[in-house]
Amino acid sequence: MIADSISPGAVKSEDEHRRDICTVGRWIHSRAFVVSTDGNVSVRLDPQRVLTSPTAMCKGMMVPDDLVITDLRGRKLAGRREASSELAMHLLIYNRRPDVHAVVHAHPPTATAHAAAGIPLNKALLSELIIALGCVPVAQYGTPGTQELSDALEPMVQHYDAILLANHGVVTCGPDLLTAFFRMETVEHFAQVSFMTDLMGKQVLLSGRDVEKLLVARARYGASTASTVVPGCPVTSDDAGDGEQRPERISVTREELEALIEEAVRKDRALR
Ligand SMILES: [Zn+2]
Repeated sequence: MIADSISPGAVKSEDEHRRDICTVGRWIHSRAFVVSTDGNVSVRLDPQRVLTSPTAMCKGMMVPDDLVITDLRGRKLAGRREASSELAMHLLIYNRRPDVHAVVHAHPPTATAHAAAGIPLNKALLSELIIALGCVPVAQYGTPGTQELSDALEPMVQHYDAILLANHGVVTCGPDLLTAFFRMETVEHFAQVSFMTDLMGKQVLLSGRDVEKLLVARARYGASTASTVVPGCPVTSDDAGDGEQRPERISVTREELEALIEEAVRKDRALR
């Protein structure tokens, strides 16, 4: 029986970490952050070992015994299955970020749509997102499971706790598994709000001063994220000009557009 809750913190027994990964696997599958056998979840067990979800298995159906232990170079140490095909991406993050003890990779639809469109989630639209993550950039496309993807991610892992993977999905990390999972939820939620305001044709960004105050608040809450030091993250109304990022967008049908053009041509001819 897999519990429906996990406790914060990274100091746990191996059995607890195994159950936690299975719980997060169920959460990302039930929220449609992944479908089929997509996605992967891992935790750092100790300085030498990582516990990861297996490849080619639905993350909503894992049991503790399905998980695989590897070293930090990806060599299998224990497990009857094979490690995640995206293990190299997890290991890159563990090797570059000693503060990280858990990594979650998923394909939540709205955030993944942004990744597929090459649109970063970097606007100062929501105070909570700025406190939690700063902003979420897009890493260049790399073939999943290859060095190409790790190379694309490498320049970003020091500076961000959540990254969109172009034409692919999202990776988040944190000091423990609960935080890495919450960051995945936050990214998808922010992507939905960002998309809806874009559809509305109006996005009012917070100012640089507002963002500074949020960063002070973040320090007061004891929250931290890697992106505090990145200039221009997030984009504020100071950067965008007047707080409204774009002119109002309207939509017309093809027939309406043709009628407008015909009308304009007719008026133009009448003037000659
Ligand atoms: Zn993936």
